[in-house]
Amino acid sequence: MTKIITRGIIMKKLIKNAYILDMIGDSADIKKADILIKDNIIEKIEPEIEEETEEKINAKNMIVMPGLVNTHTHLAMSIFRGYKDDRKLMDWLENVIFPVEDQLEPDDIYWNSYLSCLEMIKSGTTTCNDMYFGMNKVIEAIEATGLRAVVAWCMTDDAICDKAERTREYAKKYNVPGSKIKIFTSPHAPYTCNPDTIKLCVDLAKELNTGLHIHLSETIDEEKKIYERYDKRSAEYLNDLGVFEVPVILANGIYISDNDIKILKNIKGGIAHNPISNCKLSSGICDVVKLRKNGITVGLGTDGIGSTSTLDMFEEMKTAAYLQKVSTKKPASITAYDILKMATIEGAKVLGMENEIGTIEPGKKADMIFIKTDKLHLCPENDVCANIVYSANGADVDSVMIDGNLIMQNRKMRNLNEKVVMKQVKKIAKRLLQHQ
Ligand SMILES: [Zn+2]
Repeated sequence: MTKIITRGIIMKKLIKNAYILDMIGDSADIKKADILIKDNIIEKIEPEIEEETEEKINAKNMIVMPGLVNTHTHLAMSIFRGYKDDRKLMDWLENVIFPVEDQLEPDDIYWNSYLSCLEMIKSGTTTCNDMYFGMNKVIEAIEATGLRAVVAWCMTDDAICDKAERTREYAKKYNVPGSKIKIFTSPHAPYTCNPDTIKLCVDLAKELNTGLHIHLSETIDEEKKIYERYDKRSAEYLNDLGVFEVPVILANGIYISDNDIKILKNIKGGIAHNPISNCKLSSGICDVVKLRKNGITVGLGTDGIGSTSTLDMFEEMKTAAYLQKVSTKKPASITAYDILKMATIEGAKVLGMENEIGTIEPGKKADMIFIKTDKLHLCPENDVCANIVYSANGADVDSVMIDGNLIMQNRKMRNLNEKVVMKQVKKIAKRLLQHQ
């Protein structure tokens, strides 16, 4: 589908014959047009562009839409796929996950993260928001694969000065114009961090002029624990520690009271909703409809592989839609277009990146995915948004462009070797999991 004219460094790319779902506005507007990209930026979108460019991409029979934004994940958890499933959160974390994580070597974090990055790209995610330890290795994997990402060194109460110093060091390097990686601070959760750790992360976010990523109200047990400890709900507790004075990404947000909504109404950032993980751990159902009605931005996320089993955001989109329809008993409570917004522009807003990514329009970064539509399960195209949310899956993504670079084309990763990474991750799983 591509004609490359080789004459040095690629500066301009032209996408021809695209059916563009730009995700601008309150309803879907599909238009047939060409897209001209200069370096990493969308320069113009017009019905017919004739221009000599270094690369031409024929998008015939493709929907071109913004890349998906995964607002909450733990990339290095890929080895936990299918490992001791079917447990509740606390039992799973304390008895399955934490003991193995203690044994992870830096190279394990690199290869596990690498596999997750490739899985995400192959299913149409172009930006993710990661929280883990060993951030240096996570970043190495992200940079090797070409994703755009927000990354944070997850903090609990041990070695916080060291982790804060590493966060400072990486923020200095990456929180600069043009960088595809942004560094946030990240206390793990209200129930795993004492108030001093959370306060330190808030102060650090202020010092570095960045945001904060934390789990919030994922289970009822966790809410009870916080209430017993501090005589207040998690959102109130975080509010009192100044967390909402900086941009925040709040992962899960299932047990949110009306009073919590009043607190969260004015935050910068939003909720990262992880529907499959919430289902698999039987944590509960986030009231997405109510949060959105109250002006709180909600993006979609996968959480880590251990609790979601796949990083395919198409699966998250479907599950998010069905959970709201069944919990409200109103099929129109959330539409396919609402869900697509959550997976693109609203996810970008949760990460504070809505001016850079999340829609296809001139001036934005060229992060886009090409969905092949001439397939049995996508035929006929009565409603493109409905087909993408309810009928498509990650394998329908034909090509992926991030920052103007075509990372995957015709489902083949350009310059990235899937076999090598699978071999490495199998070796790690054998060493750490399969002897137990
Ligand atoms: Zn998580």
